[in-house]
Amino acid sequence: MLELKKVTKVYEVGEQQIMALNNVDITFRKNEFVSILGPSGCGKTTLLNIVGGLDKYSSGDLLINGVSTKMFKDSDWDSYRNTTIGFVFQNYNLISHLSLLDNVEMALALSGVSVKERVNRATKALDSVGLIDHINKKPNQLSGGQMQRVAIARALVNDPDVLLADEPTGALDSKTSVQIMDLIKEISKDRLVIMVTHNSKIAEVYSDRVINLLDGKVINDSNQVNHDEVLEVQAKKDMKKTKMSYIAALKSSFKNLFTKKGRTLITALAGSIGIIGISLILSLSNGTNAEINRTQEEAFSNFPITISRMTITDFFSNTANDDLTSYPDSDAVITESNDGGFATHYNNISTDFVEYLRGLNSSTYSEISYQYNFPLHIYNKNGNIYKEVLENGFSYTSGTKTDNLSSYDLLEGEYPESEDELVLVVDQYNQISRYTLSDLGLSVSGSYTLSDFVGLTYKIATNNVYFKQVDGVYTENTNLEEMYNNNESLDLEIVGVLRIKEGVENGNLNEGINALPSLQTKLHDNALASNIVIAQNADKTINVFTNEAFNDQLTFDEINNAIGGDESPVSINIYPKDVDTKKDIKDYLNAYNIGKAEADKVIYSDMSESFTGMITKIINTIALVLSALAGISLVVSSIMIGIITYVSVIERTKEIGIMRSLGARKKDISRIFNAETLIIGLTSGLLGVITCLILIIPANMIIEHFTKVNGLMKLNPLHALILIALSSGLTLLSGIIPSRIAAKKDPVIALRTE
Ligand code: ADP
Ligand code: MG
Repeated sequence: MLELKKVTKVYEVGEQQIMALNNVDITFRKNEFVSILGPSGCGKTTLLNIVGGLDKYSSGDLLINGVSTKMFKDSDWDSYRNTTIGFVFQNYNLISHLSLLDNVEMALALSGVSVKERVNRATKALDSVGLIDHINKKPNQLSGGQMQRVAIARALVNDPDVLLADEPTGALDSKTSVQIMDLIKEISKDRLVIMVTHNSKIAEVYSDRVINLLDGKVINDSNQVNHDEVLEVQAKKDMKKTKMSYIAALKSSFKNLFTKKGRTLITALAGSIGIIGISLILSLSNGTNAEINRTQEEAFSNFPITISRMTITDFFSNTANDDLTSYPDSDAVITESNDGGFATHYNNISTDFVEYLRGLNSSTYSEISYQYNFPLHIYNKNGNIYKEVLENGFSYTSGTKTDNLSSYDLLEGEYPESEDELVLVVDQYNQISRYTLSDLGLSVSGSYTLSDFVGLTYKIATNNVYFKQVDGVYTENTNLEEMYNNNESLDLEIVGVLRIKEGVENGNLNEGINALPSLQTKLHDNALASNIVIAQNADKTINVFTNEAFNDQLTFDEINNAIGGDESPVSINIYPKDVDTKKDIKDYLNAYNIGKAEADKVIYSDMSESFTGMITKIINTIALVLSALAGISLVVSSIMIGIITYVSVIERTKEIGIMRSLGARKKDISRIFNAETLIIGLTSGLLGVITCLILIIPANMIIEHFTKVNGLMKLNPLHALILIALSSGLTLLSGIIPSRIAAKKDPVIALRTE
């Protein structure tokens, strides 16, 4: 039983007010066939929409089984439409991209009926209107009469109490009209049917009651409900809330996207471009970093860990402090906190530290070499001419147990065995630098053979030879001949010429003159035991060169350093056995600093690591910049997908109206559009990743051709997943506004659009 009480509906169009219904009072019986007659524009459709809960009355009330609907919420109207009302429209209002079965199922899907039951009931409903053979056809494959039957089946599938039909035969020929009217008459046997028509003949033949409307007012009612008539009240129907499942929403979106395969594919392709870009860049930078790490492990594992008095802790540090102002007005000059643009740390390599280093597990390194500071004065004799040579010293065959010399071919002479033996190292072309030649006291313009170098001899003036005490102060000896011939001077001889073996990439000797580390130890010990050092350390306040007291300008440390009196090393090289022990060594060195003040910390440097670290940093920065660019295309494509979704919303306005008339909540509508953008985003993500994986194959071939590195580009599976999620997320985000717009559409207006 439905009751309209003084229902008025006013539409406002701009300034104008259109009164579509004017104080309409009608009571409908539980079971009757009512026809609403009236000329076009008199308010028939409006009346039907208000009874069906599709449109809201402006004033008055609609009573459902005696209950007022004044306090109805959106969700109450939604479930009222879904459970109690069935709509049939003049223009059928079928969803064109769904099959007949899916069209009929839609009403059930909205109320959350299980798939199996849905198919069952929808098939039955289609059978009852005689369309069992066509259930998989699309609406456009049917005749008008058949389409109207589908609409009737859809209206009946939920077994509603009320069937509302708005000119159901308006678009049909008279023969088909009769069939449809017979069907509706049949339906009206056990429910209320309210049919709008302007055909008075049909109204008279089929219905029990004819109501005439004019200008929004009831002007005649052929079978009005009497005051004393006892009305049958509908058994209270379970108005359970409609709720479309996410799966049903996804399925609907899938079907829609599938009917527009071409557009969907192009959209997804456009969306995938950003993903392809980012994933290619990520694969390249990942692969390059992995390759660098691998080469580092291979090639640099025998590079030493170095501890020097000064170490650069950050190549990229900013020289300016954060609290400095640029272009200051003040005239103060500020001492830079960093040196040469690098962050530096001064290591105090104390005897404590050297002692600590002796505790390092000897299985982790092949050698530890200590470099010391001491005066080095070397002379040669050429005929009667004495000359100071090798003024810049030479390299020590660092890290060499002699087996490390095994990566060198002996071209001439012998390998050095004792500290008084030197070797000359030439490069792969047998070259030596002019610098080395002149250092050795040889003419830069001469031509030489390997044997010319073997057998060259030199003398090192030790501290006792070089520093003489004259008149109570020490002075430097300037008599080269005397020093050269002094018994205390040490002999040096070049005993061999070495060249790196073919195919060995990293030798550990420097080109030029090399001595064994034991020479350094000997010279350092010698300096420590020399007269001048002993004298200087006996009284640390007086400078042994002047007999004057030290002051701020000249300190004991400076002099003691210059004469080789400093016991602690200037630098230490630790040669790890391999990559793993290198880590152990670093752990051991780091442990020394725990709990120490900043100034007492000893910070090592790992040349190979800082080198590769720098490259890695550069690569990552480049990758970031490129990713940002690719990211822009991702954003652009997301916006594009948003626009396409908006277009889709406009296109599907009618469909939105139909679904709302079937009881879809606003939420269900936005859910369907969100599902649609999600599918597009997911597809473009997947498409992007797959395209990237395909592109990597030829890209790697090209890279291998040029660099001999195989399989450089690799896409990290985690990155792939993140990118797919990103693509889905972004497109979902871009679709939120259009899907909101869709959800907010007024169902009545939506239904009126073509
Ligand atoms: P009928 O179905 O009898 O032809 P309607 O119920 O569709 O008439 O319309 C009744 C009146 O209300 C008409 O004058 C129509 O122009 C007006 N009307 C209907 N819907 C709207 C609307 N959404 N906005 C403004 N005016 C409307
Ligand atoms: Mg109408």
